[in-house]
Amino acid sequence: MYAGDLVVLGVCSIMLILLFFSFKVRSRAFRMFLSLVGILMAAAATHVTFHTLLKYRPNLPTGLFYGFQSLYHGLLLFMLYQFAAYICQVTGLTKEERKVYHTIGGMLILVVLAAELFVNFSGSGIQLGDGAASAGGNRIFMIGYGLFIVMLSMLMIQVRHHLYRRMMNGFYMTMVFAVAMLAIAKLNGQDSFTTATFLFPVVAIMYLLHSNPYDAQLGSNDLRGLEGLIRYSDDKGKTYLYLSLYMRELDETARQMPGDLQAIVRRFTAQYFRSSVMFRVGNGHLLMMVRKERNPDYEARTEAILRAFDQEYQNFKLDYKIVIGQTTAELNRNNEYVSFIRSIHTRIPENTIYRVQPDDIDKFRKYEAILHQLADIAGQKNLDDPRVLVYCQPVLNIRTGKYDTAEALMRLQLPEEGLVYPDRFIALAEENGFIHVLTEIILHKVCKAVKALNEEGYCIDRVSVNVSAMELRNQHFCMDISSIIDRSGIDGKQIAIEMTESRNERDFLLMKEKIAELKQKGITFYLDDFGTGYSNMERILELPFDIIKFDRSMVVAGAQDKRSEQVLGSLADLFAKLDYAVLFEGVETEQDEEMCRECCASYLQGYKYSRPVPMEQLKEFLTKK
Ligand code: C2E
Ligand code: CA
Ligand code: CA
Repeated sequence: MYAGDLVVLGVCSIMLILLFFSFKVRSRAFRMFLSLVGILMAAAATHVTFHTLLKYRPNLPTGLFYGFQSLYHGLLLFMLYQFAAYICQVTGLTKEERKVYHTIGGMLILVVLAAELFVNFSGSGIQLGDGAASAGGNRIFMIGYGLFIVMLSMLMIQVRHHLYRRMMNGFYMTMVFAVAMLAIAKLNGQDSFTTATFLFPVVAIMYLLHSNPYDAQLGSNDLRGLEGLIRYSDDKGKTYLYLSLYMRELDETARQMPGDLQAIVRRFTAQYFRSSVMFRVGNGHLLMMVRKERNPDYEARTEAILRAFDQEYQNFKLDYKIVIGQTTAELNRNNEYVSFIRSIHTRIPENTIYRVQPDDIDKFRKYEAILHQLADIAGQKNLDDPRVLVYCQPVLNIRTGKYDTAEALMRLQLPEEGLVYPDRFIALAEENGFIHVLTEIILHKVCKAVKALNEEGYCIDRVSVNVSAMELRNQHFCMDISSIIDRSGIDGKQIAIEMTESRNERDFLLMKEKIAELKQKGITFYLDDFGTGYSNMERILELPFDIIKFDRSMVVAGAQDKRSEQVLGSLADLFAKLDYAVLFEGVETEQDEEMCRECCASYLQGYKYSRPVPMEQLKEFLTKK
């Protein structure tokens, strides 16, 4: 009878409902998969109709029943044909390779149907009244089925290396199971589950190939899902609006997103735009894609979601970067949205909203070129790499009235970009793990230059090198630094390291440990950019820094109003009393200098004395012994 067909109709309907309510990559393979489901449902419906008519209208012309039975068989075989086509598609067979299977499959269907109709109409066909379609037609169909299975097996063997092995095994097992079920049923004269056995490969495909990871808590999809969406929208010429939210703190750790934040993400995805899809492309990086045509009033909606975001931010206070833009053909081509957005992150400050400008793609290409060069520099690890330049800014020592220390500042000299300044590559190098090699190159070049200055009789107390906090996480950090200094033959006393305050407990502890270790070599430590971060005094005092560098922003503020100047004075005084030397950065004018001198300054650095110059020119500021 047709119990199995009803099951198939039910299961397929549920599958379609689930597919509709979950986000699926609408690739070509996915559309083929949907057609498989459709054909199967049509076959099941035909079979049900056939049996219903047989039961309630047995007196209809026999030819009609023959027709129904053949249609049913034809649909089942067509499904196998489509299954073969699907396998060809996902395994990426060439047109020629596919053609073989399309031809054999098509021929098989035609021959089987012709044979079946011939057998039926020549009299040995359905014996109506038995309540089942039996004999000739069925036998012919089973032969066709067997031949199709042979063809599918050949295909599966041919493509066995095209897909992940375990996945292929999943397919093999499913096919064996389906054939076995059908054979057992037929041997026992059971007809009602024939359609049901065709459901197995469909379930296998859905499970193995179209179940892209879906984060139920966030309601988000992953990077692969994004790729599918971009490809699909590009094919169809659709434009999407994207809203990217990046939260550094979550992204840099594996920390789970707090539950109430998850709830907000869910709400934001559902509430503000029609048919928006959320993608989670990093632990702390969310990308919402919105169909522009479906939201003609997207600008008002964007304003609304940003207002709501700002309110939530007041509670969470997690640093963020928001980037808003629209998909374009150029970025669609290789789906470069994530790296494009990351390139923007490197040049916008925390807690800002950035709207993508037309020239950002150009900047992105340059950014990529720089990234490519950085990767090459890091890969070669040549400490004399000519692309890495050392500039130096002399520092005035108030006590001696001379320039006897300097800060090393990096520049890149790149083939296409020319001279590149730190604002365009330091963050990039840090984010991609190239910064430590750059530090090693700078340190090596500084040591060499200092050695030459010593030999030529110039007085140079030390040169400071900037080090990024994340470098300390490198196990070999201290060893790398020590060995470069040792190999150069200069004294560790002539080298200083500048570091900014740590952002978290882990980096703080690391810093404490590494500073202590390197101080034994005589290296001096500067706390860089004091006054720009959250300045946790307790922590700063716990770290054995020698010199505190007051950031230019403090100098500017101090020069502008009396109160700030008083704060600056007291802070500098406090550090001086605690035996730190105080250095003021960014001294540009006479007034700046005057104020700094009144604030217990030991060292002054800024454009007033000199801009950073190539290290070879440092001599011009130094005195000879
Ligand atoms: P920083 O360590 O705070 O370096 C001081 C920056 O202020 C330098 O910018 C310098 O040119 C600039 N500066 C000096 N005097 C004045 C002044 O009077 N007024 C103003 N407005 N600015 C002044 P630069 O060379 O562009 O470097 C920017 C940042 O890039 C540095 O800030 C540092 O954080 C980073 N950096 C530079 N070289 C290196 C390096 O070798 N390693 C690492 N990790 N970071 C580096
Ligand atoms: Ca510095
Ligand atoms: Ca600084």
